Amino acid sequence: MKKALGSVRRHFQKLDTDKNHRVSDLGEYSKPKDPKDSDSVRIVIISDTHGTKKIPEIVPDGDILIHCGDFTLHGRLVEVESFNEILGSIKHKFKHILVIAGNHELMMDPSLNGSRPEECQRILSNCTYLEDEGIELMGIKFYGTPWHPEHRVGDAFSVKCGEECLSKWEKIPFDTDVLMTHTPPYGVCDEGHHIKHAGCPELLYIVQEKVKPRIHAFGHIHEAYGIAKDKTTTYLNASICTRRYRSDNLPFVIDLKPIEKKTVDFLPNVLDGIETI
Ligand SMILES: [Zn+2]
Ligand SMILES: [Zn+2]
Repeated sequence: MKKALGSVRRHFQKLDTDKNHRVSDLGEYSKPKDPKDSDSVRIVIISDTHGTKKIPEIVPDGDILIHCGDFTLHGRLVEVESFNEILGSIKHKFKHILVIAGNHELMMDPSLNGSRPEECQRILSNCTYLEDEGIELMGIKFYGTPWHPEHRVGDAFSVKCGEECLSKWEKIPFDTDVLMTHTPPYGVCDEGHHIKHAGCPELLYIVQEKVKPRIHAFGHIHEAYGIAKDKTTTYLNASICTRRYRSDNLPFVIDLKPIEKKTVDFLPNVLDGIETI
């Protein structure tokens, strides 16, 4: 682990956050092209809806809807129920719906007193809930994880920066195409009103140096809603709610083509040309 933390530090020595270019025109990402290419998968991305009833009105049709956490405001069971009902009302628009938790989902974190994670997961019957796990859908590999670096005591899925954060991100498989986290990585769509960069340094290292997913979707820092790109990854902070918890932002839409998997011939016929007795 010490060796890995050393790599995080080295990554930061050469990091120029200006390289993580923000996309200035979000229009093409919030208004889907119609029709989409027949061989691509349409992914609709939302996060931080915090109980808004506007989801059915703002979410366009697609193949897969992903929600990157903070679907409740106070983390109550009744809010989980009402979110599941909303998902039920838009289920017909998608083939799959994937959801992760955020720091507001207090009832879902097993380490918090009085939480009821299993009951919450049962309630979420209109989606696939991911917690440190992946799923392959329509030829695309997704992975979802709810953790974020601790900013205040009492949040759900909160871990200390450094080793604790890194131990969560090291579980992300290297072949992930679409990574869903609640927190942004450090320096990318993570500018908070009270802190210059609120994202996670260890997550940035794992995303840029190890996993290099095609899409990294997150939310959490509402005021940093937007898109950035580097050579390998498109980063989307898809917070629907603004800093003042008004659900004013639009979902993002990405059409992704599944990549043909290379087949590797692991077992060349080593016996060719060898005489056997
Ligand atoms: Zn939020
Ligand atoms: Zn959050």
